Amino acid sequence: MDFKAIEEKWQKRYEEAKAFEPSVEPGRPKYFITYPYPYMNGYFHIGRAFSGLRAEVLARYKLMQGYNVLFPFAFHCTGTPIVAAAERIAEGEKKQMDILKKAGIPEEEIPKFADPVYWTEYFSRTTKEDLKKVGAAIDWSRSFRTTALNPHYDRFIKWQFRKLKEGGYVVMGEHPVVWCPRCKSPVGDHARLEGEGVTPEEIFLIKFKLGEAILPCGTYRPETSFGVTNLWLNPEVTYVRAKVNDEEWLVSEETVEKLANQKYVVTVIEKVKGKDLIGKKVLNQITGREVPILPAVFVEPGRGTGVVMSVPAHAPYDYAALRDIESSPADFGISPDIIKDIRLIPLITIEGFGKFPAKEIIEQMNIKDQNDPRLEDATKEIYKKEFHTGVLNENCGKYAGSKVMEAKLELESDFVHSDMAAIFYELPQQVVCRCLTKCVVKIVSDQWFLNYSNPIWKAQAHKALDAMTLYPEKVRKQFDYVLDWLKDWACTREYGLGTELPWDKRWMIESLSDSTIYMSYYTISKFLQDPHYGIKPEQLTDEFFDFVLLDKGTVEDVSKKTGIMQGLIMKMKQEFEYWYPFDMRCSGKDLVQNHLSFCIFNHTAIFPEKYWPQGMGVNGFLQLDGQKMSSSKGNIYTLRQVTEMYGADATRLTLMYGGEGLEDPNWDSEFARTAGPKLAQWYDFALENYGRGRDDEKYIDLWLESVATKTIKLTKEAMDTMDFRTAIQRGYFDMQRYLRWYIRRSPVPNKRIISWFIDVQTRILAPFTPHMCEEIWQQIGGQGFIAKTPYPTWDEKMIANETIERSEDFIRKVIEDAQEIITVANLTEAKEAYIYTSDDWKYKALQIAAGKNMGDAMKAVMADEDMRKHGKEVSRYIQKIISERLVPSGVDEPAILKEAQEFIAGEIGMKVSVNAEFDPQNKKKHAIPGRPAIFIQS
Ligand code: ATP
Repeated sequence: MDFKAIEEKWQKRYEEAKAFEPSVEPGRPKYFITYPYPYMNGYFHIGRAFSGLRAEVLARYKLMQGYNVLFPFAFHCTGTPIVAAAERIAEGEKKQMDILKKAGIPEEEIPKFADPVYWTEYFSRTTKEDLKKVGAAIDWSRSFRTTALNPHYDRFIKWQFRKLKEGGYVVMGEHPVVWCPRCKSPVGDHARLEGEGVTPEEIFLIKFKLGEAILPCGTYRPETSFGVTNLWLNPEVTYVRAKVNDEEWLVSEETVEKLANQKYVVTVIEKVKGKDLIGKKVLNQITGREVPILPAVFVEPGRGTGVVMSVPAHAPYDYAALRDIESSPADFGISPDIIKDIRLIPLITIEGFGKFPAKEIIEQMNIKDQNDPRLEDATKEIYKKEFHTGVLNENCGKYAGSKVMEAKLELESDFVHSDMAAIFYELPQQVVCRCLTKCVVKIVSDQWFLNYSNPIWKAQAHKALDAMTLYPEKVRKQFDYVLDWLKDWACTREYGLGTELPWDKRWMIESLSDSTIYMSYYTISKFLQDPHYGIKPEQLTDEFFDFVLLDKGTVEDVSKKTGIMQGLIMKMKQEFEYWYPFDMRCSGKDLVQNHLSFCIFNHTAIFPEKYWPQGMGVNGFLQLDGQKMSSSKGNIYTLRQVTEMYGADATRLTLMYGGEGLEDPNWDSEFARTAGPKLAQWYDFALENYGRGRDDEKYIDLWLESVATKTIKLTKEAMDTMDFRTAIQRGYFDMQRYLRWYIRRSPVPNKRIISWFIDVQTRILAPFTPHMCEEIWQQIGGQGFIAKTPYPTWDEKMIANETIERSEDFIRKVIEDAQEIITVANLTEAKEAYIYTSDDWKYKALQIAAGKNMGDAMKAVMADEDMRKHGKEVSRYIQKIISERLVPSGVDEPAILKEAQEFIAGEIGMKVSVNAEFDPQNKKKHAIPGRPAIFIQS
């Protein structure tokens, strides 16, 4: 079969018939599915395709369930990364040129990418082409790109922001943000190459005094200042003496810019070598104790301030480093005098440890020195325990006796107010901007924030979440956490593509903020951008959106003010009110912590409750043959590449079989390679067998009907919860396994059953491999697109027929037993196999005794005159029933064996007799229900 031709044929037919461009059908239930529009910085890769196709398969499934389904698609162009990349192309930067070359952009095209607009056009076009080539059931008539390049959308975003401002959701403020010094703007998750989800964390700079100068030590645990025995400085590092606000500080050179970014006023006075400070004594203002400065090469000048305090009783790294110095001070260039008075100072009591937890854990774990990697684990364990269960001891002044967790806030505030500490922000992990620059923390004022920290807004978002359907349900916990954890979000940037902030044109709205309620825009976009209607952007006033999306005002008024015909306005309103709210949004799990949660927040801010999101489906991140995908390492496939290599249906099946739930799914190239031939086999089988076969009905026909019916039900259950891998496992692989057994059992199938099977198997496969299924459907005489044919249903009565399934298990077991005897006794040359089913009385006894205890069973069986005739044999048999918990199977063993006689003979390679008179070894006597006796005549 020519898959390529079939795929092209059906893609053309879909397009001609506008098969996936629904319109309002009052009274018919609708299902509106969305997928986060991808960022137009490259080809649509298979990771994005995994999440996108989950939405698409769901769309097809819902269509087959009779819903009027809308699944639109758009292109995200907002933000700085495309602009930055275009600038790099304009500068002729090799790295960026290579990225495009590696992605498969023809060499002569590359200079065109110096224009950011070209990126948005090029990749919107290729993404659409690639999705069409994979047969995606998308309504392209509603597609759009974001930013001012699309003036209609631009008006929509401006309206949204004015609404947010009116509601008090956008505020001016001063906050620490993750900042790119090159792009000179905050860097949201979307614009990061590394460090998604990382936010600035507050740390404290504890001020130690060296004469009048301050050595500020960064710490997350200011309470441990009570146990400081020394400071650590790196002798190799250059420090500076600088005026910081009104004080004189000694910090690493790298710290100067960080302080300046955080609103400290800094003037450098002079450089100081780290080694010149070693051995000096500083004053711990909190305890009034003097402690020495010791050398430590592990102190990184870029972390904190490059000045570190040492609390060896409670910090494993400090203890290990101090022990190293104490064991050979000369190696560290230290005179023993300097350290001779150092004593560990305990300050936190925790259960399971003595006075010096850091020392104890190091000894328990047998940690050798300060370079031992296990120090990390030791640190985590101690810090966690001390934070959650620790109590401050008598060395902690007025905080003695308080729990660490409870005293922390008060103590921090006291230290800062008495000027013994200052607040500082750090990134707990490295963040790299898409322009390849390392990010820092910057405190920005004159910056607009969406105030996600507002408790009233949070409560609304929780209310929306509580009413939502989530797949898988266990992602709810994560959402709950994020809604609580989100802080104010810097929603504007100084440059990049996007929409200007309507009331302050210096700012562009950033990419995670102009993408929160745009699903509603899909409901009207086709009218706005269709030249036939001729709606100009300037006609899209706030009154227009207020009326169409929020039902405020009157159509007469809006029409008069905008010049848009009343009928058209009403049509758009009707579209919105029919499709909204969206029913499902499918995405990778990376967006839970930002976009998906923002989507919930913003819906509650703008729309009344009836338009809040109904559901979200979240999935893991696609791996490529077990490896993390990474475009910079070239370990990535585009959808275009795989479709070209394996074909659309095989690609779709491979992706959807790749995984489900929150676990990371996998693209398995080997699976993709074999998927095509497997599907081709089904295609051939279906066409060869539909409407052919015998008319008489056998057990095995009923068996296939029964197991396949049960499988339809199980498959539907998996489809309903978006567990598509399970659905393929059941609805395709299990079904095919049953079919293989059936054909083995009955090489000429029953006409009715096989035709039914072909019909349901094809319909089950249709959401996954639509092209092949459309073709089969057409060839077997199905009406219309299979995509719009009802999903298989079932007759519950058929499923109850477990006896039939047990009959087949019985036959399989008999064959296995016979084969085992043949192998063990080396009887492959034997002529005939004799199978004896149990004597009738044993079936009857089993009926009576099953499920009873020994005494009752014996009494009940012996009450029967027939049974008593078999004397001792009966009691032995009853014992067996009870001890092996035998139960009647309902299988008519003699009949089913007779029917399968020929099949068994074929399987074991010799003639088969069932219940023959000939029984030279008196085998029949040993047969019991479910376990016939077998004799092989050599
Ligand atoms: P990239 O980092 O490769 O540029 P991205 O994360 O910026 O991709 P978006 O354009 O934001 O991609 O992605 C659109 C959708 O695709 C989102 O729902 C996202 O979760 C999903 N997605 C992106 N990569 C993967 C992946 N490897 N596995 C599953 N889903 C993914």
